[in-house]
Amino acid sequence: MSTEAERRWVYHQGEFVRAGELRLSASVQALHYGTGVFEGIRAYWDADAGVAHLLKGPEHYRRLHDSARLLRLDVTESVEELVAITEELIRRNELRTDVYLRPLAYKLALEPGTPFGVRLRGVSTALSILALPMGAYTRQDGIRAGITSWRRVPDSSLPARAKITGAYANSALAVDEVTAAGYDDAIFLNQHGQVAEASTANVFVVRDGRVATPSADADILLGITRAAVREILGRELALATEERAVTRSELYAADEVFITGTGCEVVPVIELDGRPIGDGAVGPVTAKVRDVYERAVRGALPAYGHWLTPIPLGSAPAAPAAPGEQLARAAGR
Ligand code: PMP
Repeated sequence: MSTEAERRWVYHQGEFVRAGELRLSASVQALHYGTGVFEGIRAYWDADAGVAHLLKGPEHYRRLHDSARLLRLDVTESVEELVAITEELIRRNELRTDVYLRPLAYKLALEPGTPFGVRLRGVSTALSILALPMGAYTRQDGIRAGITSWRRVPDSSLPARAKITGAYANSALAVDEVTAAGYDDAIFLNQHGQVAEASTANVFVVRDGRVATPSADADILLGITRAAVREILGRELALATEERAVTRSELYAADEVFITGTGCEVVPVIELDGRPIGDGAVGPVTAKVRDVYERAVRGALPAYGHWLTPIPLGSAPAAPAAPGEQLARAAGR
């Protein structure tokens, strides 16, 4: 096997297999109809302690179960088992770095006797979990966002609260539109014209010392980072986050806007639709939240220890000795 990516272990259908040995047919049902659900989870590497910290593993797997139920996907592993499998995946891959985990449950194949067609019943389920090295990937100094003309898919059509693969075509269209116009990310409005969320993140708005975020009925994914950030805001800044309808004009008039997600973490939005937000620099509330979040996820703040599952990996095994050195050792020198 050639590349590192191909040699990496993947959890697939109850076993650990090398990524390069995994074969899936083009008839995978979810590929045709978008009938899969997934999660994005991070584990943060603490080099000094030799420990990987899995961030909110049970919360992510609980959401995966909820999403799976919606699409009648049969995920047989419990939340606890999924966390244990994830720990084993990180250990097997010896990932002594920041890691992104991608569990994916999907409709696989028509069961015997099930006629061809778009359906949820009579189709088998597959579960795969991938792990790959991934550090921070968004701009620390903030992003320029644009409101997309695509509306967030409404709960009455395809529930955004479930992480359904097919729904991400909606996000992809939005990102495609706004990046073509020179922005970094898209912010969606919902069918009512209110702010929903960014392409893969939740939105927070700060004005006059008050913080708000679109509520659960705004066609959003109820982000796990969103909950984590609300905890930070309450604990560190004594700010209760208002969950309510947020209008587009409110974002334009805000002191600060930031977005939150497992992948992007806490990201300041410094410009929206070509208008600076506040004074166009990273605001104090955003800076504080980001600072606490970054330390909490690496296990540096005991008050947030309940977010983390520690996975001890130890330091890297010593590199094999050079042949000359081995000879010298064998000769007792
Ligand atoms: N909204 C959408 C559409 C997303 O894809 C994500 C990323 N999972 C989020 C919000 C943020 O959710 P979380 O904080 O759980 O990663």
